[in-house]
Amino acid sequence: MQTKVFVLGALAIARLTAQNQPVLVEDTVKISDHVWAIMGWPNIAIVVGTRATLVVDTGLGPRNGATIARVAAKLAPGNQKVFLTTTHFHPEHAGGEAGFPNGTLLIRNVVQQREMELHGKEMIDLFAGRSAQFKELLSDAAPRIPDITFDQEASLDLGGVKARLLWFGGAHTKGDQLVFVEPDRTLVSGDVVQNKIVPGIFRDGGTPSSWLAVLDKVAALNAQHVLPDHSAPGDGSLVILEKQFIGDLRSKALELKKQGVAVDDAGKRLEAEFKTKYPDWPAMNVSGFVRSIYAE
Ligand SMILES: [Zn+2]
Ligand SMILES: [Zn+2]
Repeated sequence: MQTKVFVLGALAIARLTAQNQPVLVEDTVKISDHVWAIMGWPNIAIVVGTRATLVVDTGLGPRNGATIARVAAKLAPGNQKVFLTTTHFHPEHAGGEAGFPNGTLLIRNVVQQREMELHGKEMIDLFAGRSAQFKELLSDAAPRIPDITFDQEASLDLGGVKARLLWFGGAHTKGDQLVFVEPDRTLVSGDVVQNKIVPGIFRDGGTPSSWLAVLDKVAALNAQHVLPDHSAPGDGSLVILEKQFIGDLRSKALELKKQGVAVDDAGKRLEAEFKTKYPDWPAMNVSGFVRSIYAE
């Protein structure tokens, strides 16, 4: 039994390590009947129908985009039509658009596209400054002009499987997009629903209450499988867990605010409290989210 435990531990560690890998590999994991994933930084979803394929997210820079395009072609060699969409405008999710072949149809919601136009280049420059590897991966990251944009929902019939592209409001960013695959009931959740990762709002992206409102709509989808972008896949209970965590942190922080506790002190207190209360969540930036709660 010792050996088995050790093997499981090693696998879990391998998964975690993959989640930090900005150079994506061609290995896939099957999530549900029509959905495959490349696990890395970030996780990439590939939805395969009988007529068309949908890729969700590009990886960091065109080299990763090209890797994903190769994997998508291998999974469904007969599908001439390939759609590409992105969970949000950040470079590891959208900075690899240029690596996909001509003819790939880029589709995203208008709010996300607006963020891309306003801050996409700035974010690529910011990320390129983080390391020599990031700089190299992003060196030819030219954004593409979307072929299709939509307001709140676009439905793609891929042949025997339908992908609903959904914009429910701001959360991690303003333009956070979800993909719900039917009949699999698989949710590609981006940053909106993670597997035990403390949420983070990027600049003026969403607010804690808009995030909760988004989660109410997500919960109504009744997902069976959830594939987040920066954590391990899970089942529909991840949606409930995310809601509980944000709701819990929000009510605790608002209570401290009412008592007149300064935001930094509240952050420190709740950081410690939540580390104990949610021991299997790596307590990353509880105080950052507390700041977002205070600011709302
Ligand atoms: Zn992000
Ligand atoms: Zn990300």
